[in-house]
Amino acid sequence: CLTLAIETSCDETSAAVLVNGREILANIISSQVPVHQKFGGVVPEIASRKHIENVIPVVDACLKEANVKLEDINHIGVTYGPGLVGALLVGVAAAKSLSYILDVPLIGVNHLEGHIFANFLAHPELKPPFVALVVSGGHTSLVHVKDYNDFELIGQTRDDAAGEAFDKVARVMGLPYPGGPQIDRLAKAGNPEAIDFPQALHEKGNFEFSFSGLKSAVLNYLNSAKQKGEEINQADVAASFQRAVIEVLVHKALQAVKSVGVNTLVLAGGVAANSALRERLNNECEKTNIEFCYPTPILCTDNAAMIGCRAYYQSRLKEYSDLYLNAVPSLKLTSKVQAG
Ligand code: ATP
Ligand code: MG
Ligand code: FE
Repeated sequence: CLTLAIETSCDETSAAVLVNGREILANIISSQVPVHQKFGGVVPEIASRKHIENVIPVVDACLKEANVKLEDINHIGVTYGPGLVGALLVGVAAAKSLSYILDVPLIGVNHLEGHIFANFLAHPELKPPFVALVVSGGHTSLVHVKDYNDFELIGQTRDDAAGEAFDKVARVMGLPYPGGPQIDRLAKAGNPEAIDFPQALHEKGNFEFSFSGLKSAVLNYLNSAKQKGEEINQADVAASFQRAVIEVLVHKALQAVKSVGVNTLVLAGGVAANSALRERLNNECEKTNIEFCYPTPILCTDNAAMIGCRAYYQSRLKEYSDLYLNAVPSLKLTSKVQAG
């Protein structure tokens, strides 16, 4: 079974071809980072226009690399939310056209479910049930994945997402966009205990997160140091901020695994590429005998292969979309694909 998948929810134009949902033949990612960098973040209107220019060439390049003909594709998966509406619409329109022309099923995929499913590509032996910690640019969520098509949200952030906090803190520190990888690198040379930044909701017995207070605390620290004319150790700030984020994530993720009664924790989303987070979770899971999985760095960022994997499991339930499929910018994790 050959899946063609398309992902255009933010600033990556990506297409992938998969065999039986878990084997990647090609996964082409065309990043717009250099285009948006001079603005310090993604400019939605520019992202849409770049997707329009890129989507067909990226699909072509992907089929070529996979050595697959368009006529051999069995179904088409596409991200229809959450994301930037104009960006999503480009992928959805392209996928609909291809599905119509080729007369093959169209499958609308939730981007966050895709992030979780990246783990099935990185770990052939991985099976539900497990708890997923989704940490990305727009989301911070704990999800109980009961089966391939059965998810329950355990908790999420009340305000900023973890990735958003990394990007905003990096920005006030004068680091280029996207800030996550920059802070990750800088933190390696810093002392994580240097500054005691707040760890919100840490002790409460709930599974919610909050990162906006931490972001303000870093901002206040930097401003007051500047006013006093004190020298700022960028590496210490990065390491201490990163530690505050990680401690809460690790604490709540392990609590969720215990509370749900599973034995596997899966990390997903762009922030899953963070080296200190991976290391901390790896150590904690080893101590407590929990299986721990995370995707390769390429599969952590936005890519179409993870969308194709999710689409394949939807196809097994004939969870198809029709040509009325629309972009849903604020799609929730457990929302079902809309009917036509
Ligand atoms: P969402 O998936 O919630 O819709 P998105 O698709 O924009 O949002 P992703 O592409 O999944 O987000 O992740 C991008 C985020 O990951 C950015 O905030 C980026 O800074 C962060 N990120 C990437 N690498 C790292 C890293 N090594 N450490 C910390 N954060 C990182
Ligand atoms: Mg991106
Ligand atoms: Fe994403």
